[in-house]
Amino acid sequence: MTNPIDLPDDLRAVVMRASMPDYTEWQRQMRAIGGCSNPIRLIGRRVVSDAATGKVIDVFDTSALMPGYLLKGCGNRRASRCPACSKVYQSDTYQLVRAGLAGGKDVPASVSEHPLVFVTLTAPSFGPVHARHRQTGRDGLPRRCRVRRESEPCPHGLSTSCLRRHQEDDEAVGQPLCPECYDYVGAVLWNAHAGQLWHAFAVYLDRHVAAAVGISRKALRQEAKRSYVKVAEYQARGLVHFHAVVRIDGPDGPTSPPPLWATTGLLEDAVLSAAKTVSVTAPGPDGDRTMRFGAQIDVQHIVLDDAVQSQGLSQRHVAGYVAKYATKAAEVAGAVDRRVRRLSNLDNADVTPHARRMIATCLELAELPEYRDTTLVNWAHMLGYRGHCTTKSAAYSTTLSKLRGDRAEHQAAKHREALGLPAIDPTKVVIDAEWRFVMAGLQRGEAAIVAALRPRQHAAT
Ligand SMILES: [Zn+2]
Ligand SMILES: [Zn+2]
Ligand SMILES: [Zn+2]
Repeated sequence: MTNPIDLPDDLRAVVMRASMPDYTEWQRQMRAIGGCSNPIRLIGRRVVSDAATGKVIDVFDTSALMPGYLLKGCGNRRASRCPACSKVYQSDTYQLVRAGLAGGKDVPASVSEHPLVFVTLTAPSFGPVHARHRQTGRDGLPRRCRVRRESEPCPHGLSTSCLRRHQEDDEAVGQPLCPECYDYVGAVLWNAHAGQLWHAFAVYLDRHVAAAVGISRKALRQEAKRSYVKVAEYQARGLVHFHAVVRIDGPDGPTSPPPLWATTGLLEDAVLSAAKTVSVTAPGPDGDRTMRFGAQIDVQHIVLDDAVQSQGLSQRHVAGYVAKYATKAAEVAGAVDRRVRRLSNLDNADVTPHARRMIATCLELAELPEYRDTTLVNWAHMLGYRGHCTTKSAAYSTTLSKLRGDRAEHQAAKHREALGLPAIDPTKVVIDAEWRFVMAGLQRGEAAIVAALRPRQHAAT
């Protein structure tokens, strides 16, 4: 038998933690929150009373629990920060997107008959970068990165051609062929204005729909409502792409049938023409720049899960796609997942030279008078993109907080059932809760245990 004293430090910490009196209950709670990487300890109580009579129905008090605290998940959406909580966020996002396509969560199933498209809006090029091509050439091998026969080297003496066949995990992918030639100011300004460009696109879209139907925008608002859910995806080159579901409903949202003129074809044409014409002005160190979407604009029809898939993307596919990107951010482009105030913050960080240059450019632009009042400096780690990763219009479907509330209610009901207690009607009670934060994070020895508690992650997502 090994004496804990003789064990390596890490293992000894695990053994010590597992021998503490609160361990069993800690482990039970930790399992319940899916193995969160940064759990929050709370103390306090929650009292549920009958709304009509004031009679106390249920009391939950952490002082009655063996460890004397309640663990709550950190709720971080980023997979790089908390695999457990990001999994929950991903599945909630999936439900939210799917409800807006197929119905459910108070959205009628008839919504799937409304005009619906899945749109991808890309960023333009700010200079050649190493690329991995999905398509294969006539020889069956992946296409070469960038073939430019008889091309002159760039002013810095670097080749403007790359004959390699990059693999997906190749660190060169997304990095510029010549960082000195690459337009970093343009790239960061594009990310910084991408959110604004999206909003302008939405306005243009309404305008183009109204023009196609031949009515005024005011009349359009009385006849139809446009809603969307969108997610920002970082490409390897550090620029943001948008993927969005766009839908046309009747004037009252998903519960009302769209007007007769509203067809998927009309919506598709309006999306394409709005995306091609929209622009916003971005002030830069060398004057104003006009920001537009890249030429690659993709519009796909969305079909029922059991329909012929060649006619479009299935509802499941679209919901899965949006949910997947909802838990990722700039770290997938070789940046970091927390704020950077000065470049020295990156000294020990695992950052690609390209991401570092984007961050440096962002910090420089934040010093310009035009951006000093903005919070650009806060978004350097997002490579300038200031928007939220996932956004939706109010009428699209349900909300994440509603889904969270429903889940908590469901769990509480299951817990009461297991204890043999009568069910509580949530509409007829008043809940008084008082929680105090104790600490966040894992203690010595806990991280290794949590890793083992976590349900296995699916590699495909
Ligand atoms: Zn967490
Ligand atoms: Zn290359
Ligand atoms: Zn160059």
